[in-house]
Amino acid sequence: MYVTDLHNHTIFSYDGSNTPEEIIENAILCGVDVIGITDHQFSIGDRLPEYYQYIQSCKIRYADKIRVLCGLEIGTRPSPPQSLPASSEFFDYVLFESLDDERAMDFYEFIEWRRLFKCKAGLAHTDIFKLGERYGTDIPGVMRANDIFWELNTSGNYPYYYDFLTNEKKRRAVAESGIEVSVGSDTHYIAEYRKTQIRRANELLQKLNIPMP
Ligand SMILES: [Zn+2]
Repeated sequence: MYVTDLHNHTIFSYDGSNTPEEIIENAILCGVDVIGITDHQFSIGDRLPEYYQYIQSCKIRYADKIRVLCGLEIGTRPSPPQSLPASSEFFDYVLFESLDDERAMDFYEFIEWRRLFKCKAGLAHTDIFKLGERYGTDIPGVMRANDIFWELNTSGNYPYYYDFLTNEKKRRAVAESGIEVSVGSDTHYIAEYRKTQIRRANELLQKLNIPMP
């Protein structure tokens, strides 16, 4: 089985406890094939070039053992810096977080903003079904049209993940929508790494033939 985990925090984030090397080496031990580092844009701040360079060096260093991707997690509640989309070309992808939150930016404004980013983009820990009810629209359809993937967040903090595992109707809706779905552990501390959940989510997506970014 091919195992990916595209959501991990390191000490570049205020709430990450491990170095990028520790995150990557733990992933190798856990049989992960692709590991994405996605520190918070707001806590990296001016160190964005340093962060990018550092993860690039890790990509090269671990190339024979695991594929490392350099991502960035972006908040959707306060407005991030306007310069951000311009620097996005350096990243493999960005994750926009919690778009289903009441305080998050408007979904259609978000779509306009996403178009300024020059890399792949995904929605992290966002219940797209809840968002669909709020806007009365086909959210996966809009996501597909704007090249936005959806994250299954396996951290255990978001009920929509368990809902997806058990709700046949929702699984079918996602599979038929044609959107790509990623798996993200949202790791802040490797001692809490939920290896079984990561594998389970990857296995389910592959079984359903849902494309992964
Ligand atoms: Zn996160």
